[in-house]
Amino acid sequence: MMTGITFDPTQVALPNAHFVGGKLLKGEGATPVHTPSDGRLLCHLPEAGADLVDHAVCLAQDVQIRSGWATCAPRERGRVLRRWADLVEQNAVELARLETVCSTRPIAETTAWDVPFTAEGIRFFSEYADKLGGEVAATQSDLLGMVLAEPYGVIGAIAPWNFPLVMGSWKVIPALAAGNGVVLKPSEMTPFSIIRLAELAVEAGVPAGLFNVVQGTGPITGDALARHPVCGKLTFTGSTRTGIEIMKAAAESGPKPVTLELGGKSPQIVFDDIRDADAVADRILRAFTGNAGQVCVSGSRLIVQKGVHDVLLEKIIERAQGFVSGSLEKAETRYSPIISERQAASIEAAVHESMQAGASALLPLNRLSSPGGVFLSPCILSDVTPQTRAVKDELFGPVLTVQTFDDEAEAFALASHATYGLAAGVHTADLGRAMRAVRNLKAGTVWVNRYGRSSDFVIPTGGYGGSGIGKDLGRQAVEANLRYKSVLMAFEG
Ligand code: NAD
Repeated sequence: MMTGITFDPTQVALPNAHFVGGKLLKGEGATPVHTPSDGRLLCHLPEAGADLVDHAVCLAQDVQIRSGWATCAPRERGRVLRRWADLVEQNAVELARLETVCSTRPIAETTAWDVPFTAEGIRFFSEYADKLGGEVAATQSDLLGMVLAEPYGVIGAIAPWNFPLVMGSWKVIPALAAGNGVVLKPSEMTPFSIIRLAELAVEAGVPAGLFNVVQGTGPITGDALARHPVCGKLTFTGSTRTGIEIMKAAAESGPKPVTLELGGKSPQIVFDDIRDADAVADRILRAFTGNAGQVCVSGSRLIVQKGVHDVLLEKIIERAQGFVSGSLEKAETRYSPIISERQAASIEAAVHESMQAGASALLPLNRLSSPGGVFLSPCILSDVTPQTRAVKDELFGPVLTVQTFDDEAEAFALASHATYGLAAGVHTADLGRAMRAVRNLKAGTVWVNRYGRSSDFVIPTGGYGGSGIGKDLGRQAVEANLRYKSVLMAFEG
């Protein structure tokens, strides 16, 4: 596996622009974009107002109709997408740098995971392009019934900052594979890699104007996109709070369907029959410190059976002490900074409030030395209840809460959350116990004796309850970009 090569961030040419009609489009800049690890100001991002959003959406509609993207032999669509994946791999160094320069992702990670994972995602979805036929349903002998799968036209897509390339591409690729045009708004904090991805799409043969990117903030650009009447469907990844706004916009401007991938507060249940406490400690640690906890499926609530509590906590605490800050553009940096000072302050405030309410810090939350940026050390809180702020709220930082239980029923009760149901982990050597947990947990994904995703694209991802509606990845993600037309054809005219 390739690891990142240290680079000079001042030498990276930033595509600080929108991408509409196959061309970069400069604009007036208002929103500052920073490097999170050292706080360096990179540029001011242009903001698309309602007029530019309208132009991008109408152009995507026009190109989707005129280019034959939806009506061509679907295998041809698949071939174009596979060329796109090849180009992503050929431009991996540049894409990894554009991702690292403004996000929380170290160059070693963007090189080894984010970019190759994006290319593989394109290949995965390309294979669905010609496998999305409808159905023929026999009704009566002189009548033919058909169900035709058709694209919506234009999909409005809005992405978060935590994995800009991967999350953004999961919105765009299935929509294109299903024959739609797409207009995407990336996060205003991480706007660059997706622009290069869109340029490569055109180079691969995606018709210019079919996939447009508009830059700007949520309340201006995002809201204009969500409310645009030509967007037949919205797909959004971000916080539950914003997801509710997107759903309101979809209702008021349509109604139109939504896919919402939202927040989480995912539990990890550890039973005292685990065979390898070291392996489980490694897993728990990775699950709440990966990307410094800025992961939707972060395993931030440890629910551990009393018999294994002491030995497991000792191992997790020992491992959680070795984290150091570093420049993301250096090959040796592995730990992520917090995306902004504001986000770091909100994590610190939630931990402080939890401790005021009775929580004890088995490991305190500290700022690691980093001039200009903020790195937070992993923090572990015990003596918490379901009402403790750090148990209730998604903090989006490296904070693990610890609760103990005696029996299965207690474990399942503690694991359930009033709002979220994104993911859960179960660690046990007893298959029956694992299956009872799988049945009991109200979560869109349950991992047993592992935690987190690797390259299993065929398994969809998405939440229950306040964690969202619909699925990214899997066959389900492509089908969510299609609507179905019923046809009944009589033989006699
Ligand atoms: P956010 O909700 O603040 O922003 C997400 C996107 O929505 C950004 O592009 C933002 O500009 C835009 N936006 C904000 N207000 C808007 C509005 N009124 N109308 C339209 N667009 C608007 O989320 P974030 O801070 O970027 O991302 C972190 C959140 O995303 C966390 O809650 C995390 O759990 C969630 N997330 C979920 C998944 C998943 O698959 N379930 C994956 C990654 C992140």
